[in-house]
Amino acid sequence: MEELIGRLRGIVGERWCYTAEHQLRTYESDGLLQYAVRPAVAVLPGTAEEVQACVRACAVAGVPWVARGSGSGLSGGALPLAEGVLIVTSRMKRVLEVDLPNQRVCVEPGVTNTAVSSAVAPDFFYPPDPSSQIVCSIGGNVAENSGGAHCFKYGFTTTYVCGLEVVLPDGELVTLGGPELDPPGYDLLGAFVGSEGTLGIATKVWLRVLPAPETVKTLVAFFDSTHAAGEAVSEIVQSGVVPGAIEMMDRIAIEASEQMAHAGYPVGRGAALLVELDGAERECEARFEEVVAVCERCGSDDVRVARDEAERQLFWKTRKAAFPAMGRISPNYFVQDGVIPRTKLPEVLEAIDGLAQEYGMIVANVFHAGDGNLHPLVCFDGRNEGEAERAEELSGRILDACLEAGGSITGEHGVGVDKKRHMPKMFDEPDLAAFQRLRCAWDPAGLANPGKVMPTPRLCGEVPGVYRQHPLEAAGLAERF
Ligand SMILES: Cc1cc2nc3c(=O)[nH]c(=O)nc-3n(C[C@H](O)[C@H](O)[C@H](O)COP(=O)(O)OP(=O)(O)OC[C@H]3O[C@@H](n4cnc5c(N)ncnc54)[C@H](O)[C@@H]3O)c2cc1C
Repeated sequence: MEELIGRLRGIVGERWCYTAEHQLRTYESDGLLQYAVRPAVAVLPGTAEEVQACVRACAVAGVPWVARGSGSGLSGGALPLAEGVLIVTSRMKRVLEVDLPNQRVCVEPGVTNTAVSSAVAPDFFYPPDPSSQIVCSIGGNVAENSGGAHCFKYGFTTTYVCGLEVVLPDGELVTLGGPELDPPGYDLLGAFVGSEGTLGIATKVWLRVLPAPETVKTLVAFFDSTHAAGEAVSEIVQSGVVPGAIEMMDRIAIEASEQMAHAGYPVGRGAALLVELDGAERECEARFEEVVAVCERCGSDDVRVARDEAERQLFWKTRKAAFPAMGRISPNYFVQDGVIPRTKLPEVLEAIDGLAQEYGMIVANVFHAGDGNLHPLVCFDGRNEGEAERAEELSGRILDACLEAGGSITGEHGVGVDKKRHMPKMFDEPDLAAFQRLRCAWDPAGLANPGKVMPTPRLCGEVPGVYRQHPLEAAGLAERF
């Protein structure tokens, strides 16, 4: 390792190669703080060439590495390896090209999500908008195929990535896709988006941006229950209205967010539904009235329409404050991320309520209601023995409820280390073997973010096949995740 560290120092310079304990502490976790591993070394390359040289040095030394953007991931995707290298892209923050006539932007991976929209404002915008957008990097967004409030109408990151420059795990620099929309051949770009740092490191990203909508209209409607608000969501969507965003917060989330944002939300109400319409002015006006009528028909007696941009921003601030605001009502919480068919919202929310009561724990709900993408926030006090474990168990049972409803174990936060044990609940052995073969084709030496996403660590030389029980497992001495 010492020899490799010396090489890395030579590539990025002494200043950007961290080995001291106090320097590495910053990097030992991502947003999933329950897991922490101090890497052997963290390097902060400044260019694609430096990334390539670092990856090549790791390949020669046979040392695994993990890519990290801003470290805001919530599934432990950027969790380092104790005997590995952490390659951090936070110095690579240049907007390389803005081509508005062709609606394209090219950026380095460390550029934040918000900075992309800023680079093309005011006439254009970049639609995927994770709530973490002021800090999270485009490289991280690509690796997680990140979503956000406006993805209901506009689609996830994958809809907007048209090209990537990637350093493959053997150090080769390749270009996938390009400025054009749909190049011929296999969709390697599609395979990379959402691959959670297991297929290489993106060093350049070409993104599509859209013309800013002519007008935006936003309301918040309050209901007595999430059930009633869920009915309103279904009715709005079934009526043919396609809101830019449709977001829900339950009673606990309203209470926590109000303490932080001071938007004057009525604490104690069962649910708040934030609906935003955007597009041509006349269409928005007409559709907006329909939305107000649906909310009232479904039981809302308090519909507040944003009177100006400042009030609209306040509505959004309250919604986006929901995760951090939970710290005001609970010392610790897990952010869960599951998906269900939108029509199952009322029954799954009831099931989550039932589970919270069974465990005697608080679960707040704040979510992208239009996509059926739930974010239950499971509150616990880590100082009480066994409470974190019970909260984790409860989180897992919420995912089971999502799967039973025909949904998925993750909507946008990825699998990382956190959810790999749930993968076999969603995919059977041949599916997992197919994923593994794809991974091995890109990374035969298994050096890129090993131990993430796939439930059972496997080497690329192993022949995937039908699962056979290991004798240790049969003897009850080992457990299979
Ligand atoms: C308060 C809060 C709110 C959030 N809201 C949302 C939300 O609304 N929607 C949503 O989708 N997510 C949300 N997230 C999760 C997180 O912000 C996203 O997953 C984001 O895309 C992570 O970006 P990052 O730069 O922080 O990536 P990191 O956490 O650094 O890394 C995430 C993964 O990407 C890989 N990676 C990083 N850079 C590269 C690269 N250049 N090439 C290849 N792989 C790379 C890493 O190895 C890791 O597997 C939220 C997080 C927080 C803390």
